[in-house]
Amino acid sequence: MKEIKFEHVKKSYGDTEVVKDLNFTIKEGERLILLGPSGCGKSTTLRMIAGLEDITEGSLYMNGKKMNDVPSGKRNVAMVFQNYALYPHMTVKQNIIYGLRVRKLFKKDIQSRLDSVLDMLQLRGLEDRLPKDLSGGQRQRVALARATVKRSDFFLLDEPLSNLDAQLRVSARKELLKIHEMFKQTMVYVTHDQIEAMTFADRIALMYDGELQMLDTPTNVYHRPANVFTAKFIGTPPTNILEMDDHNGFVTIGEQSLELNDMWRKHIAERKTQNLLFGIRPEHIELSTTPFSNGFQGKVKYIENQGNSYSVYMDLEGKEVVALSENKHWHKGDIVYFRPMMERIHLFEKETGDSIGYPEELLDENDKNKEESRVLV
Ligand code: ADP
Ligand code: MG
Repeated sequence: MKEIKFEHVKKSYGDTEVVKDLNFTIKEGERLILLGPSGCGKSTTLRMIAGLEDITEGSLYMNGKKMNDVPSGKRNVAMVFQNYALYPHMTVKQNIIYGLRVRKLFKKDIQSRLDSVLDMLQLRGLEDRLPKDLSGGQRQRVALARATVKRSDFFLLDEPLSNLDAQLRVSARKELLKIHEMFKQTMVYVTHDQIEAMTFADRIALMYDGELQMLDTPTNVYHRPANVFTAKFIGTPPTNILEMDDHNGFVTIGEQSLELNDMWRKHIAERKTQNLLFGIRPEHIELSTTPFSNGFQGKVKYIENQGNSYSVYMDLEGKEVVALSENKHWHKGDIVYFRPMMERIHLFEKETGDSIGYPEELLDENDKNKEESRVLV
C-alpha cells in the first residue's frame, strides 16, 4: 500500500516544537493538500516524509514500513521545491533526466520517459536551453518534469506554483492533474492558498501552529468545519463568529436576539453545552431592506466589490458582520436587515473552539450535495 502514516510524529528544533503530534494517514493514490498559514509546519512535515528532516519523536510509515531511519534516496519519493532548485549549468533535458541517469535506467527507457513528459508539459523545443534562458513558468514546468519522470510512488510538492502568476497557476494545476491521473501517485501538496486547496484536493489537511486542525474533503472542510480556526481559514471573506452568551436557544447580540429553530435546540440540548460561539458564512446570510420576523438589524459600514458580488460589512451592536450580496444597492450608513440561513449555521464550544457537530437532518442533505458544493468557494 502506497500510503503514508504518521504515528505521534513530532519535530522540534531545540526547545521549540514546530510539529506537534501528527496522527493521520494519507491514502494510496490520493491528492492530499497540506494547507495552513505561513510558519505552521507544512514544509517541515513534507520534508520529514521526504527524509530531508529527522523525526524527533513518533513513527512515520510509508508502504507499511517504518521510515524514520531510511535515507531520502531509498524512500521512492520525488519532490518539487518552491524555488525549483534546477541545476543552473545543465540544460532542460539534462535537468530532467539527471535522476534517471543516476539510477542507471536503459537509454531507451530514459528517452521514452523524456518524450512523454516534454509533450505533457509543453517543453518541446526547449530541451537545449539553460534554466537562465527560461521564463518562471517554463522553469516551473521543468521542475515538475524532473520530478514526474522518476515515476515514484510518492510525489511531494512544496508550494510548487506560488511563483507563477494566476493564469499560469491554473494551467499548471491542470498539468498536475494530468500527471496524477496518469501515474496515480500518492501526492502530498503543500500550499497556503485555500482556493488552490479547494480546487485541487481529494482531501485537505489543515494545519495551524504545528497541529492538524482538520482532515477531510474540501466539501466537508467548507460545510462542516471541525473548529473555529477551520471555519475562519476557509472561505473569503471568512466565517462570521459571534459570541452568544446565555443562549437558551437564542443568539443574543447586545439588545437583539435570533431564535434558533427546534432542530438546533434539540442538538444543543443533546450536547449539554452551555457556552457557545455562533458561526455563519457571509454567503449564507440573507439581506433585506425590510425586517425579517426572526433576524437582526444592522448598519452598513462599508462595501467591497468582489466582481460577481459585494461584501457588505455591517455593524451589529458594535460587532462587525459581513454578508455577500449580489445587489449593489447597499450604501454606507444604510439600515440593513439580515437573517442567517438556519441550515447553514455552525456552533462551536467557546472554551475549545471545537464544533458541536450538526443535526442529523443536515448531514444527510450535505451528502447529497457533496459534488456540486465542491465549487462553492
Ligand atoms: P511552513 O512551511 O508551514 O511555512 P515550516 O515548516 O517551514 O512552515 O516552519 C515551521 C516552523 O519551524 C517555523 O516557525 C519556522 O521558523 C521553524 N523552523 C523551520 N526550520 C527551522 C530550523 N532549521 N531551525 C529552527 N526553526 C525552524
Ligand atoms: Mg513552507
